[in-house]
Amino acid sequence: MSSTPLHTEFDSIAHLRDALRDRKVSARELASSALDAAQARADLNAFLHIDPDLTLAQADAADQRLASGQPPALAGVPIAHKDVFVTQGWRTTAASKMLGQYVSPFDATVVSRLQQAGAVSLGKLNCDEFAMGSGNENSAFGPVRNPWDPSAVPGGSSGGSAAAVAAGLVMGATGTDTGGSVRQPAALCGVSGIKPTYGTVSRFGMVAYGSSLDQAGPIARHARDLLALLDPMSGFDPRDATSLESCDGSQNQPGRIQADFQTAAASQEAAGSQPLKGLRIGVPKEFFNASLAPDVAGAIEAALQVFESLGAVRVGISLPRTELSIPTYYVIAPAEASSNLSRYDGVRYGHRAAQYGDLAEMTSRSRTEGFGAEVLRRIMVGTYVLSHGYYDAYYLQAQRVRRMIVNDFQQAFSSQCDVIMGPVTPSVAKHIGDNREDPTADWLADIYTLGISLAGLPAMSIPCGFGAERPLPVGLQIIGNYFTEGRLLALADRYQQVTDWHQRKPEQQ
Ligand code: GLN
Repeated sequence: MSSTPLHTEFDSIAHLRDALRDRKVSARELASSALDAAQARADLNAFLHIDPDLTLAQADAADQRLASGQPPALAGVPIAHKDVFVTQGWRTTAASKMLGQYVSPFDATVVSRLQQAGAVSLGKLNCDEFAMGSGNENSAFGPVRNPWDPSAVPGGSSGGSAAAVAAGLVMGATGTDTGGSVRQPAALCGVSGIKPTYGTVSRFGMVAYGSSLDQAGPIARHARDLLALLDPMSGFDPRDATSLESCDGSQNQPGRIQADFQTAAASQEAAGSQPLKGLRIGVPKEFFNASLAPDVAGAIEAALQVFESLGAVRVGISLPRTELSIPTYYVIAPAEASSNLSRYDGVRYGHRAAQYGDLAEMTSRSRTEGFGAEVLRRIMVGTYVLSHGYYDAYYLQAQRVRRMIVNDFQQAFSSQCDVIMGPVTPSVAKHIGDNREDPTADWLADIYTLGISLAGLPAMSIPCGFGAERPLPVGLQIIGNYFTEGRLLALADRYQQVTDWHQRKPEQQ
């Protein structure tokens, strides 16, 4: 069994697309070599559900569309989905025993849009249970391993997605980001990821965690591949009540992000040797606090200097509520989770305990057996902060602070800077098990990503270096104002034209 899939010969989706259109390689050949590789790398535990028949049927359909001469943009491109997107065919478990055997009667909008665009899915990727976590250690089906170091976490909760991309098993993968779950694993696995503005990508068919925060986004090697995946994923969906019809005047539909990217790239070109001239990069002082490891700080500093060499200027800013984003998020997200997860009662669907006395016992036993420790912890916290007597003190208070966090970002973008940059995580990937004794250690490590999610802003992570003590990847976070995903991708692409961090690959373990 070969462990190097054919698509790894192509350094971008665009090049792979050319080869597919020229019939130098077929979607079926790509899919079967990627399936072999995914099975050969079972050690990573990145995939939860693989079904070669389903994948090969999609590949054959892509080959037919390629033969027709009018293939859609992603025809034949091998991808995979985080196991929180429901899929017909493959099981959807959200990495929980609660949904262990669940098969959805329909596809999530993200899944069907990528399928319509011709992408071929290799299956479903491991993640933290119900997307709760930042290390992918909370999966009921075991942790995912980081392809750079199998003893390290890949980051979470979209850990299987980032690990699969980093190991070269797929060209791209879907993820979801409620408080950092696309950006963190992208950073810790040395790949690129983007969480778009809340409301631009449909949540229909995404297993719900924190509904006012959850947003889907792709993970891939570099910004151009992210663009190729995000643009067709995005767009208004009447089946999601929080989906946006328009984005600051333009229609929320595929093509919007692509057009913004082209405009930004063209104006960079026109600026000649200083393509980013005039760009103001806000650097929040609170992102360079005591919890930031010196080697991560060093890699971020070097990246900022690259942006300066391209003509950008650095502006010191303050996001004074950065520390408060942790308690604010860890009240709001569990509150929403406790409400979303109340549907798993052992009656409607999901796991049902084999033995029980009455109805109440059936529900409580089913939940005790079906949910892991972190999920139960969040449900309890959420139920507590929503309960009579505590609602005002915790939940309402957190909503007020959330508004202040939104205002802090708006103040920075309205008068001080065009984008904000900083770290994604305080350190490189920890060892699996490091935080086992103290579950809240993981919560504190979310400090640089939570505020952005609370504000619903777009943000991405791109590789920008390696740690000193342990040579594992470091990610640079780039945060924009609402609806600027096209511009962020063009900025990241410019950086990736003059650096090669995104081309580094882990040794085959
Ligand atoms: N680490 C955060 C949490 O555990 C964010 C997870 C996510 O973005 N899905 O809730």
